[in-house]
This record gives sequence, C-alpha cells and structure tokens, in this order.
Amino acid sequence: MFDRIAWQRAYREKYPERIREYARRRRVKHPGAASAAAKAYAARNPLQVASRGAVRHALESGLLVRGECEVHGTDCQHGPVCAHHENYHRKLDVRWLCRKAHAQVHAGMIVLAEREPVYTIDLERAWSRPPMDPEMLTARGKAGAA
Ligand SMILES: [Zn+2]
Ligand SMILES: [Zn+2]
Repeated sequence: MFDRIAWQRAYREKYPERIREYARRRRVKHPGAASAAAKAYAARNPLQVASRGAVRHALESGLLVRGECEVHGTDCQHGPVCAHHENYHRKLDVRWLCRKAHAQVHAGMIVLAEREPVYTIDLERAWSRPPMDPEMLTARGKAGAA
C-alpha cells in the first residue's frame, strides 16, 4: 500500500528548498491564509495553544529554564530545543527536545523514559522581576481583546 505520510516525509527531507519555495509562494499568493490556519488550529487545539503560551511566559519570567535535548544531550547537533508536553494539562511539565528528537517521539520511534516532573526555576531572574503594575495588566487585557 502506498504510504502517503512516509512519502511526504521523505520528500520533505530530500527537497527542503522546494518545500520552502512552495510555502513562500503560497504566502505571497494568499496573504493571511497562514494566520487563518493558525486560528483554526488554535480553535481545534485550545489546550496545546494554552500550554505553549504558559511555557513562553514561564521562560520569559525565569520560572522555567530551557534544558538541553533530552535525547542527544549536550552533543545534540539538531538545532534549538523545544518544549514537548506529554500531558497538556500539566502545562509546565515539559521535556526539552530538539526538532529531530521531538519528531521521533511524536512518531513513536523514541519512547522517553518516565520521570517525575522537573521544574527548573531561575530564582534570581524570577525574583528580579518588578511587581506587576495594575495599569499594565489592563493595557495588556485591552491589547489582547483588540
Ligand atoms: Zn511534542
Ligand atoms: Zn537532540
């Protein structure tokens, strides 16, 4: 049987420049289509989107510290790590994986060992933050609603 997914994956690996060029042309032809797709994804996957936002905020505030690739360690040659969630209800319980390891985990090619959640907190950074200004909160709320 023709495995369409595997074929697409192989194609993407073999011709990354073609994929990029195709995406670029599509952006020129249909401006706004990408954001519509992102909105549709967000509507379908509210938990994933919320988790991503929680990780971003925690990283910015120093509550969470980006680790090294859990699969390849310090020797990882596959670019920046991203946060992988095993359970979207535990928004800050993440496993740090490079793009390659992340794809392999999602494809079931790698099974991460179970472990207790690790929360690395950069206390110095978290404490050095000025207390939240109520004015800023309302400004942010307005900006978010707009
Ligand atoms: Zn993931
Ligand atoms: Zn890696």
